[in-house]
Amino acid sequence: MDLGIRGRKALVCASSKGLGRGCAEALAGAGVDLVLNARGAEALAGTAAHIRERWGVAVAEVAADITTGAGRARVLAEAGGADILVTNAGGPPPGLWSDWGRDDFLAAFEANALTPIALMQALLPGMMARGWGRVVNITSKSVKAPIAALGLSNMARAGLTGFVAGTARQVAPHGVTINNLLPGTHATERSASLDRAGAAREGISAEEVAARHAATIPAGRYGTAEEFGAMCAFLCSAHAGFIVGQNILLDGGATNATL
Ligand code: NAP
Repeated sequence: MDLGIRGRKALVCASSKGLGRGCAEALAGAGVDLVLNARGAEALAGTAAHIRERWGVAVAEVAADITTGAGRARVLAEAGGADILVTNAGGPPPGLWSDWGRDDFLAAFEANALTPIALMQALLPGMMARGWGRVVNITSKSVKAPIAALGLSNMARAGLTGFVAGTARQVAPHGVTINNLLPGTHATERSASLDRAGAAREGISAEEVAARHAATIPAGRYGTAEEFGAMCAFLCSAHAGFIVGQNILLDGGATNATL
């Protein structure tokens, strides 16, 4: 399917690896020029070079922490006029509800709610003025069903979800859509490190932890960054203009709910 977005420009945050990279690759495959971002310059340069070579699109890269005002300013200086915004950043650390103090909550809220909101506030006006735009926020399945050990993530992502629910309806009349993608477990460096931590706790191999976890998912496996990216690219496509303010779960059926 031709996604109808060839020649458009996208900012994909936190995209040297994992789900952000999956989104970047899929958009590049649809002919979209990219601004990529991550903190680590080396992996970012490697991903940017790979995408240029494989897909033949223009790729700019900005090594910066997207959760800081200074980092965002550098990224946005490169991403002016973007038609497509994919927000993403690392997730907050796990813990117990009683472990966290005010600073922990503020840091999680800054990274996973205020950062995507600031990026939207910067890029939405241009999209609205041009009469076309797409925003996809990478959140988590924890928005639909809480993951108790990820209380900081549950809190911050729920806040972002509430903001998007109202804002998506305000920008839709201008041809701009905002939707959230909710990943369940996907095979990325983050899930691999969680599996290694589980293995150390239980005294078994990381492969065994992953196999046990995969067995709890109706699809019987972890998701891939490629299939996550394909959904992101569709939401950013010319065909997705009637999908507004939705929270789309990609979890292999892991969340046992009817709606
Ligand atoms: P990942 O494989 O660890 O990749 C994270 C990417 O984000 C890397 O490119 C990393 O590069 C970049 N990054 C992290 N923090 C950043 C920051 N502050 N500024 C700029 N770039 C940053 O992670 P992932 O699995 O793709 O996860 C992406 C998001 O989805 C996270 O918020 C995670 O909590 C959420 N999620 C993932 C899963 C899953 O199963 N994978 C499930 C639910 C939710 P640098 O480290 O070089 O900056």
